[in-house]
Amino acid sequence: MKIKPMARHGATGGSVLIDLHCDTLSKLVNSGYSLRRNPFHFDVDRALEAGVTAQFLALFSHNQDDNAVLRAILQQIACFRANLSGPVKARAIAGYEDLARARAGDEMALILHLEGADALGQDPGLWPLFHHMGVRSLGLTWNYNNAFAGGVLDPDPAGLTSAGQRLLNEMEAVGSILDLAHVGETSYYQALERYSPAVMVSHANARSICDHPRNLSDHQIMTLAEHGGIIGVNLVPDFVDTNNPNLNRLLDHIDYISSLVGVEHVALGSDFDGADELLLSGVEDYALLAAGLNGRGFTHQEVEAILHDNAAVFLSKVFAA
Ligand SMILES: [Zn+2]
Repeated sequence: MKIKPMARHGATGGSVLIDLHCDTLSKLVNSGYSLRRNPFHFDVDRALEAGVTAQFLALFSHNQDDNAVLRAILQQIACFRANLSGPVKARAIAGYEDLARARAGDEMALILHLEGADALGQDPGLWPLFHHMGVRSLGLTWNYNNAFAGGVLDPDPAGLTSAGQRLLNEMEAVGSILDLAHVGETSYYQALERYSPAVMVSHANARSICDHPRNLSDHQIMTLAEHGGIIGVNLVPDFVDTNNPNLNRLLDHIDYISSLVGVEHVALGSDFDGADELLLSGVEDYALLAAGLNGRGFTHQEVEAILHDNAAVFLSKVFAA
């Protein structure tokens, strides 16, 4: 079933958008600011104005001590809940009905994502509890090996462990979204092979255009596409171009991935508030990307697909399953 765009017209000239990754929650904790309005890259008011209909919000903490990670993640979940109990035109998405309710109420759909399974310690059996707390998406690792899988920046990236395999089973049982951003190559292919629902790489670009380990090789992109997955292209300058990162170079990544596997596998994963400097100064500037896509010769339908429809189809698949 396809999710129809809302009637609302954003600052992207009528286009609506879905963004697969931002890190605003970890910045919000103890900041004194709200999810609705803040000086960071992303807030709900500006995102609604820009036409964003759904946003993944990462729960993120990096620390050697898993207990410290768990506490930080719980604080971010508490912060998320506190923000949604206030006056904000947004709704936490727990299932398919919530997507429909958000559309009907012209509210932004917010999806909680755990970026790295370190908060589970060694115990995949804790995942259903995270699901119970509203977390619907999980990235197995954040850059470094953990009890479950290998990280892409680890000096010796591990493969999927037996705990990792059990974690995939737990995720599949409750209908979670698997995100393979930040995961090392061996674990990447093993997870794709073993996870039946659709998979995303929420924020990464093409390594053939910019040779960074966080970007995906052609073979990784093709394998993801064969499994019906999507890639959220990313605004971090280091992942766009080594010498001259700019919006035009980001469009080269979109062009490249589209010609390699088809435009239906391309989506957006900004990384707002995940780095100080991005190619856009904030969510309010998404109109620049929409204009750039229009200037690149993509058809109107293709532009809508990249900005919104591909991710909407993905969400309807994973939530309807
Ligand atoms: Zn990340």
